[in-house]
Amino acid sequence: MRSLHIAIAGCGPAGLAAALLLHRDGHRVRLYERFDTPRPIGSGLLIQPTGLAVLERLGLDAALKAHASPVERLLGKAVRSGATVLDVRYSALGEPLWVGLGIHRAALFAILYDAVLAAGIPVHTSCEITGSELGANGQRTLVMADGHREGPFDLIVDALGTKTLLAPPTGKTLEYGALWASLDWPEGSALNPHALEQRYRAASIMAGVLPIGTAPHDPKAKAALFWSIKGVDVAAWREAGLEAWKSDVRAVWPAVEPLLEQISDPDQLVFARYAHRTLKKPGETGLIHIGDAWHSASPQLGQGANMALLDAYALALGLREGSDVADAIARAIAYRRFHVWLYQVLTAFFTPVYQSDSRVIPFLRDRLVGPVSKIWPAPGIQAALVSGLVGAPLGRLDLR
Ligand SMILES: Cc1cc2nc3c(=O)[nH]c(=O)nc-3n(C[C@H](O)[C@H](O)[C@H](O)COP(=O)(O)OP(=O)(O)OC[C@H]3O[C@@H](n4cnc5c(N)ncnc54)[C@H](O)[C@@H]3O)c2cc1C
Repeated sequence: MRSLHIAIAGCGPAGLAAALLLHRDGHRVRLYERFDTPRPIGSGLLIQPTGLAVLERLGLDAALKAHASPVERLLGKAVRSGATVLDVRYSALGEPLWVGLGIHRAALFAILYDAVLAAGIPVHTSCEITGSELGANGQRTLVMADGHREGPFDLIVDALGTKTLLAPPTGKTLEYGALWASLDWPEGSALNPHALEQRYRAASIMAGVLPIGTAPHDPKAKAALFWSIKGVDVAAWREAGLEAWKSDVRAVWPAVEPLLEQISDPDQLVFARYAHRTLKKPGETGLIHIGDAWHSASPQLGQGANMALLDAYALALGLREGSDVADAIARAIAYRRFHVWLYQVLTAFFTPVYQSDSRVIPFLRDRLVGPVSKIWPAPGIQAALVSGLVGAPLGRLDLR
């Protein structure tokens, strides 16, 4: 396709990856972001073989691995019985090089953002995007909160995340979210530096630790500590004070003590709200929604950033193959629709298993699912599930 004039809204993983891919394909790309200095929010995440495949195509895999912690296993235990109820090993995929990569959000952001700057892609900051307008010729203009407009563009890529104003509101915010903190990895502790570990009491209490490698300009390895909590309980949590919370966490998982010792201020913990939403129409005339702007879910299966990277790659493929913008949008969506649908359904299914007030679901999880998951072929299926590989998303995009 001819070189298009493209606006990308949002400097998250979806927007930055899309900017790099489309710029490399010869399109004239501009990024728009509300922050005065673009920066990531939050602690850490797990890059799966799916997301890594896209970063490899961008030539950013070595930089990612230099910052990341390889995660070989996901291990969850019930507090009362001590039973292992989740034990997923990437080795069950039969691909020795496939692991999860725990990464500090700031490191992932810096790797992508530095590549954007190095490519000379213009980034417009302090732009609060409130909508878009469709012109008679099928081109679109971005509308900002202060009333000024940018464009027209042949295509606007909505990568504004789950609260995008470029799409109609849909879905629902979940009752449970989590408090997250990035802390120094406690060397010599009982925590496994190559596992995402979790502890559960029923499904209403969950503590987790994810190794997230190093942040930019800080050689110390980091850990993300997370604690499940309902949105309505956050104010009461603050009021009760840090010591009350720390004794709850200790009771669930004494081994996290060296992490708790690093927390002296409640502001070190950021509350993350989760929402389940999927747009029915991820494409319109001159506009495509990718990443969390299209679909977002709780991070139980840890797929969001990886799916965002796959969406960006699919968009680049669609634009290479499409006869015009509308055809390119349709192709990009067709590449991703099944995988998106599948993981949205799976995540909605698994979320109450780990975060809910249900008594029955965690009972079955601990007594039934835990033991059954050790029997062949369950280990391979679970590994494929958490790797994001169910539904063959890489084959569809020719990314193997
Ligand atoms: C606590 C937590 C843990 C997670 N763990 C994992 C994990 O382990 N693995 C995984 O793959 N995913 C995980 N996710 C999900 C993952 O973070 C998201 O799916 C991913 O960040 C989506 O990327 P995105 O680029 O689509 O959107 P975002 O990362 O949300 O980026 C959107 C960008 O748009 C900007 N923006 C938003 N609105 C406006 C506006 N109106 N005007 C201008 N700019 C705007 C924002 O500032 C931001 O820079 C987790 C999410 C949470 C909350």
